[in-house]
Amino acid sequence: MDCLFCKIIAGEIPSTKVYEDDNVYGFLDIEPQAPVHIILVPKQHVASANELTEEHTEVIGKIFLAAAKIAKEQGFAEAGYRIVNNCGEDGGQTVSHLHFHLLAGRNLQWPPG
Ligand code: AMP
Ligand code: ZN
Repeated sequence: MDCLFCKIIAGEIPSTKVYEDDNVYGFLDIEPQAPVHIILVPKQHVASANELTEEHTEVIGKIFLAAAKIAKEQGFAEAGYRIVNNCGEDGGQTVSHLHFHLLAGRNLQWPPG
């Protein structure tokens, strides 16, 4: 399948790994929008939040647990962080493999643009 993040998970495209377990892969965003900008993805291809089914319940929970674990390990849990999923064109999704942005290291503004 011609999917950028599937290729990153498979190691066919290089990435800077920050987290990995059986079902989740985490790597540095190539165009960071904050001092910490990590992408967390299910290893199994899912195009977007629109394609989620009951079978994905566990992996989505694991992605959030991974984010909280990284936050504690990297020392920004107390200062705070943001977990973002962009879905579809209006959501600003540019890569069609479900992913969550983990952003931290600066005071993030709200609402987003
Ligand atoms: P989104 O716009 O929500 O679909 O997010 C896609 C993200 O993937 C963007 O923040 C990009 O900077 C990031 N990205 C694109 N290509 C790569 C890559 N080769 N390695 C790491 N991050 C990437
Ligand atoms: Zn994929």
